[in-house]
Amino acid sequence: MAQVRLKNVFKQFQDVYAVRDFNLDILTGEFLVLVGPSGCGKTTTLRMIAGLEGPTAGEISISGNIVNDVPPKERNIAMVFQNYALYPHMTVYENMAFGLKLRRFSRREIDRRVKEAADILSIQDYLSRRPKQLSGGQRQRVAVGRAIVRKPAVFLFDEPLSNLDAKFRVQMRAELGKLHDRLKTTMVYVTHDQTEAMSLGDRIVVMKDGVIQQVAGPISLYDQPANKFVAGFIGSPPMNFMEGDIQEKNKHLYFVNQAFNLEIPREMTPNLLPYTGQKVVFGIRAEDIYDKLFATIKPKEHTVKARVDIVEPMGAETFLYLKKEDVSFIAKVGAHNKPETGQSIELIFDMKKTHFFDNQSEETIV
Ligand code: ATP
Repeated sequence: MAQVRLKNVFKQFQDVYAVRDFNLDILTGEFLVLVGPSGCGKTTTLRMIAGLEGPTAGEISISGNIVNDVPPKERNIAMVFQNYALYPHMTVYENMAFGLKLRRFSRREIDRRVKEAADILSIQDYLSRRPKQLSGGQRQRVAVGRAIVRKPAVFLFDEPLSNLDAKFRVQMRAELGKLHDRLKTTMVYVTHDQTEAMSLGDRIVVMKDGVIQQVAGPISLYDQPANKFVAGFIGSPPMNFMEGDIQEKNKHLYFVNQAFNLEIPREMTPNLLPYTGQKVVFGIRAEDIYDKLFATIKPKEHTVKARVDIVEPMGAETFLYLKKEDVSFIAKVGAHNKPETGQSIELIFDMKKTHFFDNQSEETIV
């Protein structure tokens, strides 16, 4: 069942369209992540669900009721902001209890809910402290606790981890995932960080310039990006792209440019045949390029000789920045595979894992 439904939603600020024709059903109990670069309209979308902004056009419903004209406090949602927005003069307990007091819950019920949330978030020992006596991570937990005590139908998170340092962010991310498993409440989460999106989302909505690019689970998004933008946005390092032509020789299709001449696998030919003689964009992820020395299968027609420009040891793996003619690309190879800078090496392109995009529309061809 759809817990939140956005139907043909637009949001315009003066001459800027922040969100354009947004259509989405957010399912009951799912963890949905909105991700995209700065300014793509994700916060605006979240704020419209919360009722902090009204859509210029379109319809928003929560639990089956259209809420366009319903004020935020009557929407049965709870929002956790990036800056936590805690009341500095109140203790942790009071911060969490405040919303319930306003809603005239009994003192006993408030106490029960605050203690239960404190327990879930392991902040029982800080209940009498004020926000400034807490670390960033502890403040973040209080902000989440304040949302939990409300027992809302939907949690909305706006970049809740971006003020934390990298290591703690990973820990809090895992805790939020566990919290969702425990509460099973619908969560809508905004981030610009694709790793965060991939690790938390049941489904991920990738946005660009106010428009949805693709809605899918993390693995489909990675393996079957709908267009070049999604392919480049999801994954680190970003997918390698290069322009070239599709050419037919002896009943085989090839991707050809000044540096490459790669045979295209048979299963891709039906989609690519109409592009014969035309320009396309070829995409391959760094981990799908292997050093020939360590490759198990070494097809000649997928072998590329290139010069090593930079060697970047990452610990668990090594990134090789490579150059052939004036085409640059990155390969992710084993940690102990460290060729010399300037050396020429042979690489195998795993062509079955490659992607082709229309040069004009940038939509995926195959
Ligand atoms: P970020 O990650 O930087 O927060 P975002 O994807 O959340 O970006 P939004 O904050 O939703 O993007 O903004 C989308 C667009 O709408 C941007 O171009 C922004 O400048 C514009 N915008 C947002 N709020 C307003 C406003 N109140 N008045 C005018 N323009 C706005």
